[in-house]
Amino acid sequence: NSNNVTGKVTADNLVEHFPLCMQHLHRKLRELRHLKHFGRIQYNLFLKGIGLSVEEALIFWRKSFSNITDDTFQKEYAYNIRHNFGMEGKRHDYTPLNCMSIIMNKQPGPGDQHGCPFKHFSEDNLKAFLVQTGLRKDEYLKEILDLVRGRHYQIACTKYFEITKCLEDSNIKDGGEKHLIETITHPNNYFEQSLKLAK
Ligand code: SF4
Repeated sequence: NSNNVTGKVTADNLVEHFPLCMQHLHRKLRELRHLKHFGRIQYNLFLKGIGLSVEEALIFWRKSFSNITDDTFQKEYAYNIRHNFGMEGKRHDYTPLNCMSIIMNKQPGPGDQHGCPFKHFSEDNLKAFLVQTGLRKDEYLKEILDLVRGRHYQIACTKYFEITKCLEDSNIKDGGEKHLIETITHPNNYFEQSLKLAK
Protein backbone atom coordinates (compact mmCIF):
# COMPACT_ATOMS: atom_id res chain seq x y z
CA ASN A 1 0.00 0.00 0.00
CA SER A 2 1.14 3.49 -0.80
CA ASN A 3 1.48 4.53 2.85
CA ASN A 4 4.22 1.99 3.23
CA VAL A 5 5.89 3.29 0.11
CA THR A 6 6.10 6.84 1.47
CA GLY A 7 7.35 5.65 4.81
CA LYS A 8 9.99 3.59 3.14
CA VAL A 9 11.13 6.25 0.68
CA THR A 10 11.40 8.73 3.51
CA ALA A 11 13.42 6.18 5.47
CA ASP A 12 15.62 5.55 2.43
CA ASN A 13 14.87 1.82 2.49
CA LEU A 14 13.56 1.48 -1.02
CA VAL A 15 16.47 3.26 -2.65
CA GLU A 16 18.38 0.04 -3.24
CA HIS A 17 15.72 -0.83 -5.81
CA PHE A 18 16.14 2.44 -7.69
CA PRO A 19 18.09 2.64 -10.95
CA LEU A 20 21.23 4.79 -10.86
CA CYS A 21 19.47 7.88 -12.26
CA MET A 22 17.05 7.89 -9.30
CA GLN A 23 19.65 6.84 -6.73
CA HIS A 24 21.66 9.85 -7.84
CA LEU A 25 18.69 12.22 -7.51
CA HIS A 26 17.88 10.77 -4.10
CA ARG A 27 21.44 11.15 -2.81
CA LYS A 28 21.73 14.68 -4.12
CA LEU A 29 18.39 15.63 -2.62
CA ARG A 30 19.60 14.36 0.77
CA GLU A 31 22.94 16.12 0.41
CA LEU A 32 21.76 19.48 -0.99
CA ARG A 33 18.24 19.51 0.52
CA HIS A 34 17.21 20.79 -2.86
CA LEU A 35 16.96 19.75 -6.53
CA LYS A 36 16.68 21.98 -9.56
CA HIS A 37 13.61 22.04 -11.78
CA PHE A 38 14.15 19.08 -14.13
CA GLY A 39 15.57 16.96 -11.33
CA ARG A 40 12.40 17.55 -9.36
CA ILE A 41 10.23 16.61 -12.33
CA GLN A 42 12.21 13.46 -13.12
CA TYR A 43 12.22 12.28 -9.50
CA ASN A 44 8.68 13.36 -8.63
CA LEU A 45 7.19 11.50 -11.61
CA PHE A 46 9.23 8.42 -10.73
CA LEU A 47 7.92 8.53 -7.15
CA LYS A 48 4.42 8.90 -8.48
CA GLY A 49 5.10 5.81 -10.62
CA ILE A 50 6.16 3.75 -7.60
CA GLY A 51 2.90 4.57 -5.87
CA LEU A 52 3.12 7.85 -3.97
CA SER A 53 -0.09 9.86 -3.86
CA VAL A 54 0.06 13.60 -4.38
CA GLU A 55 -0.37 14.16 -0.62
CA GLU A 56 2.49 11.79 0.12
CA ALA A 57 4.68 13.43 -2.51
CA LEU A 58 4.05 16.87 -0.98
CA ILE A 59 5.07 15.58 2.45
CA PHE A 60 8.14 13.86 1.01
CA TRP A 61 9.33 17.01 -0.79
CA ARG A 62 8.50 19.32 2.10
CA LYS A 63 10.59 17.18 4.47
CA SER A 64 13.41 16.87 1.95
CA PHE A 65 13.69 20.63 1.34
CA SER A 66 14.47 21.15 4.98
CA ASN A 67 16.34 24.46 4.56
CA ILE A 68 13.34 26.54 3.51
CA THR A 69 10.22 27.87 5.20
CA ASP A 70 6.73 26.45 4.69
CA ASP A 71 5.78 29.66 2.99
CA THR A 72 8.58 29.42 0.41
CA PHE A 73 7.75 25.77 -0.17
CA GLN A 74 4.10 26.53 -0.80
CA LYS A 75 4.89 29.48 -3.07
CA GLU A 76 7.72 28.04 -5.11
CA TYR A 77 7.40 24.28 -5.17
CA ALA A 78 4.03 22.88 -4.14
CA TYR A 79 2.25 24.01 -7.32
CA ASN A 80 4.65 22.14 -9.62
CA ILE A 81 4.54 19.00 -7.51
CA ARG A 82 0.75 18.99 -7.71
CA HIS A 83 0.97 19.87 -11.38
CA ASN A 84 2.96 16.67 -12.09
CA PHE A 85 0.08 14.77 -10.53
CA GLY A 86 -2.45 16.51 -12.78
CA MET A 87 -3.93 18.55 -9.92
CA GLU A 88 -3.24 22.00 -11.41
CA GLY A 89 -3.37 23.87 -14.72
CA LYS A 90 -4.65 21.73 -17.58
CA ARG A 91 -4.87 18.77 -15.22
CA HIS A 92 -2.77 16.66 -17.51
CA ASP A 93 -1.77 13.50 -15.70
CA TYR A 94 1.93 13.23 -16.53
CA THR A 95 3.45 9.79 -16.87
CA PRO A 96 6.87 8.99 -15.41
CA LEU A 97 9.70 9.65 -17.87
CA ASN A 98 11.14 6.69 -19.76
CA CYS A 99 14.86 6.14 -20.37
CA MET A 100 14.83 7.52 -23.92
CA SER A 101 13.42 10.85 -22.84
CA ILE A 102 15.76 11.04 -19.84
CA ILE A 103 18.73 10.25 -22.11
CA MET A 104 17.76 12.41 -25.09
CA ASN A 105 15.83 15.43 -23.74
CA LYS A 106 16.84 18.31 -21.47
CA GLN A 107 20.58 17.77 -21.24
CA PRO A 108 21.75 18.58 -17.70
CA GLY A 109 23.91 21.68 -17.25
CA PRO A 110 26.13 22.66 -14.30
CA GLY A 111 24.31 22.18 -11.00
CA ASP A 112 21.63 19.99 -12.58
CA GLN A 113 21.14 16.49 -11.17
CA HIS A 114 18.66 15.06 -13.66
CA GLY A 115 19.51 12.79 -16.59
CA CYS A 116 21.00 9.31 -16.90
CA PRO A 117 24.38 8.65 -15.23
CA PHE A 118 25.34 6.22 -18.01
CA LYS A 119 24.87 8.97 -20.59
CA HIS A 120 25.58 12.18 -18.71
CA PHE A 121 28.33 11.45 -16.18
CA SER A 122 31.99 11.74 -17.11
CA GLU A 123 33.67 8.34 -17.27
CA ASP A 124 35.51 8.98 -13.99
CA ASN A 125 32.35 10.02 -12.17
CA LEU A 126 30.40 7.08 -13.52
CA LYS A 127 33.14 4.67 -12.50
CA ALA A 128 33.26 6.13 -8.99
CA PHE A 129 29.47 5.90 -8.70
CA LEU A 130 29.46 2.29 -9.92
CA VAL A 131 32.11 1.34 -7.37
CA GLN A 132 30.25 3.21 -4.60
CA THR A 133 27.04 1.35 -5.36
CA GLY A 134 28.67 -2.03 -5.17
CA LEU A 135 30.23 -2.84 -8.55
CA ARG A 136 33.78 -3.68 -7.55
CA LYS A 137 35.11 -6.30 -9.94
CA ASP A 138 37.32 -4.86 -12.67
CA GLU A 139 35.87 -7.14 -15.33
CA TYR A 140 32.34 -5.91 -14.57
CA LEU A 141 33.42 -2.27 -14.54
CA LYS A 142 35.14 -2.75 -17.87
CA GLU A 143 32.12 -4.45 -19.37
CA ILE A 144 29.82 -1.60 -18.36
CA LEU A 145 32.20 1.17 -19.37
CA ASP A 146 32.68 -0.50 -22.78
CA LEU A 147 28.92 -0.50 -23.30
CA VAL A 148 28.77 3.18 -22.32
CA ARG A 149 31.60 4.05 -24.73
CA GLY A 150 29.55 2.36 -27.44
CA ARG A 151 26.57 4.52 -26.35
CA HIS A 152 24.54 1.49 -25.28
CA TYR A 153 23.30 3.24 -22.16
CA GLN A 154 20.22 1.16 -21.49
CA ILE A 155 22.10 -2.09 -22.06
CA ALA A 156 24.73 -0.85 -19.61
CA CYS A 157 21.93 -0.18 -17.11
CA THR A 158 20.52 -3.67 -17.70
CA LYS A 159 23.97 -5.21 -17.14
CA TYR A 160 24.35 -3.20 -13.97
CA PHE A 161 21.02 -4.60 -12.78
CA GLU A 162 22.03 -8.17 -13.58
CA ILE A 163 25.44 -7.90 -11.94
CA THR A 164 24.33 -6.11 -8.78
CA LYS A 165 21.37 -8.48 -8.32
CA CYS A 166 23.73 -11.45 -8.82
CA LEU A 167 21.81 -12.70 -11.83
CA GLU A 168 25.05 -12.82 -13.75
CA ASP A 169 26.58 -15.57 -11.57
CA SER A 170 23.56 -17.82 -11.63
CA ASN A 171 23.40 -17.26 -15.35
CA ILE A 172 26.97 -18.42 -15.87
CA LYS A 173 26.33 -21.47 -13.71
CA ASP A 174 23.20 -22.43 -15.60
CA GLY A 175 24.74 -21.64 -18.96
CA GLY A 176 21.57 -19.76 -19.87
CA GLU A 177 20.87 -16.86 -22.18
CA LYS A 178 23.11 -13.83 -21.81
CA HIS A 179 20.35 -11.50 -20.64
CA LEU A 180 18.03 -12.67 -17.92
CA ILE A 181 15.86 -9.60 -17.94
CA GLU A 182 14.56 -7.53 -20.81
CA THR A 183 16.57 -4.43 -21.60
CA ILE A 184 15.67 -1.65 -19.18
CA THR A 185 13.72 1.06 -20.99
CA HIS A 186 12.02 2.68 -18.02
CA PRO A 187 13.24 3.56 -14.51
CA ASN A 188 9.95 2.41 -13.01
CA ASN A 189 10.33 -0.94 -14.72
CA TYR A 190 13.81 -1.26 -13.19
CA PHE A 191 12.28 -0.59 -9.78
CA GLU A 192 9.46 -3.11 -10.25
CA GLN A 193 11.78 -5.85 -11.45
CA SER A 194 14.16 -5.23 -8.56
CA LEU A 195 11.37 -5.28 -5.99
CA LYS A 196 9.99 -8.50 -7.47
CA LEU A 197 13.37 -10.22 -7.14
CA ALA A 198 13.62 -9.21 -3.50
CA LYS A 199 10.29 -10.85 -2.60
FE1 SF4 B 1 17.81 5.51 -15.42
FE2 SF4 B 1 17.18 4.44 -17.77
FE3 SF4 B 1 19.58 5.56 -17.39
FE4 SF4 B 1 18.96 3.25 -16.26
S1 SF4 B 1 19.14 3.66 -18.48
S2 SF4 B 1 19.98 4.96 -15.26
S3 SF4 B 1 16.81 3.53 -15.75
S4 SF4 B 1 17.62 6.60 -17.38
